[in-house]
Amino acid sequence: MTDNVSLQFISGQRCVGSSDEELTIVDPSTGHTLATGRSASRADVEAAVTSARTAFPGWSRTTPAQRAELLLRWADGVRARSDEFVALESRNGGKAIKLAQGFDIPGVIDNISFFGSITRNLEGKASGEYSGDHTSSIRREPIGVVGSIAPWNYPLQMAAWKILPAIAAGNTIVLKPSELTPLTTLLFAETAVAAGIPPGVINVVTGRGDPVGQALVEHSDVAMVSFTGSTRVGRQVAAAAAGGVKRVHLELGGKAPFVVFDDADIEAAARGAMAGALINGGQDCTAATRAYVQRPRYDEFVSRVTELMRGVRVGPTDDPATDMGSLISLAQRDNVAAMVERARASGAKVLCGGVVPEHAPEGSAYYDPTLIVDATQDSEIVQNEIFGPVLVCLPFDADDDGLALANDTPYGLAASAWTTNVFRAQRATRELAAGCVWVNDHIPIISEMPHGGYKASGFGKDMSTYSFDEYTNIKHVMSDITGAAHKQWHDLIFTT
Ligand code: NAD
Repeated sequence: MTDNVSLQFISGQRCVGSSDEELTIVDPSTGHTLATGRSASRADVEAAVTSARTAFPGWSRTTPAQRAELLLRWADGVRARSDEFVALESRNGGKAIKLAQGFDIPGVIDNISFFGSITRNLEGKASGEYSGDHTSSIRREPIGVVGSIAPWNYPLQMAAWKILPAIAAGNTIVLKPSELTPLTTLLFAETAVAAGIPPGVINVVTGRGDPVGQALVEHSDVAMVSFTGSTRVGRQVAAAAAGGVKRVHLELGGKAPFVVFDDADIEAAARGAMAGALINGGQDCTAATRAYVQRPRYDEFVSRVTELMRGVRVGPTDDPATDMGSLISLAQRDNVAAMVERARASGAKVLCGGVVPEHAPEGSAYYDPTLIVDATQDSEIVQNEIFGPVLVCLPFDADDDGLALANDTPYGLAASAWTTNVFRAQRATRELAAGCVWVNDHIPIISEMPHGGYKASGFGKDMSTYSFDEYTNIKHVMSDITGAAHKQWHDLIFTT
């Protein structure tokens, strides 16, 4: 156990927050304290923003080649310490170690390498004489200080998705991780400076949303706010940023549908639903939460998922054989359990799970993988984000009905369609209203492709070259090439 750690990273150094509030960072799979430390205060937010503002002129004028070299060196630095990152991410997140080892940390390293490579390759419209009398060209310029706020579900990946495109584009950043899971983000910032990224380019302030996140969003020197978290808080952040007319990027909640047509490979779909629903204990914004299965194959699907779910090994996070760890906190476990109980009370059936595992240590936040049937489309468990290891299965008849039910929630982050018919697959990719649609799979992500939502899941894209659209201002430069004092268009205004 570590104690009394410095939970802030400002101007290239770990430092102690100046608030009176002490934060306790817990391993939710044991309930044990991993670290304690002082929260940031408004003064710390001020210092972090000043640090980022001071670093901006220098960093924004580094060449793409210089930024690329530093990012690629950073990727090597994280790779060299990946065991440390894996252990810390697994313990602080209550994650099975095999997930941290095979997904979280390699994903982050790949992201750094990706942004290190593409920072030298920003694209834009061709310069040209579009008016005939001027050369028009496009400049893509960094915006300034970015204030970012991250959630707890994939602490390091979410921090990386915010930090990397921002700094690759020449911005500087102040990031607030979740107060529950700051440890790997702080180590990440340290490794950036060790790789040569100048102090002040990346700053981390740790504390609660109110007041620390709020102070960051409202700060007049923060030019852009990029937020990943719940739709509820996203709305507050957007409203607070509106006062300063700041650019806002929102990656919000999800409620991904998983549509299984009657020609699907049911074994593949059942396995896909398990992996898609249980990844990270279901605390994944793109997790499969609602499986709509065409009626002729519904029973077969439900029975295979039940069988597979009963075999999931829920256990200690450091055991390589563990499939699923705990949820992030007792509060989150209680939210999930309460939603399942309300579903039960309103007539849904729990076929599997729906309980805290018998062997769960005192103070831990475990919850068993849970399968629910007989819920109605308008019920809370079908409409609202659960963010736990819970899959609801519902039957449908015509293809149109399945697709309409899939789109019938406020969210639109991700969806999948399962079919062996190419025409059905193509139609589903058009009809499903989500930022990502998988065909015969659910969950995989890659650095080269964008991640972001439709509808109440937010707007803006993480990862990929699309993220540069978020983190750069586009400037049109229009230069006269005639040298004429009298330009023809002046005649529209005056003729002397
Ligand atoms: P949350 O919205 O409760 O908190 C997210 C962050 O916002 C935290 O750092 C929190 O401290 C901060 N915050 C809270 N109130 C604030 C305020 N008033 N001003 C500024 N900051 C504030 O979300 P969470 O519980 O940490 O994470 C789970 C949520 O994140 C889920 O809804 C999930 O779907 C979503 N999520 C979305 C994506 C995506 O890419 N769309 C990815 C991961 C998680």
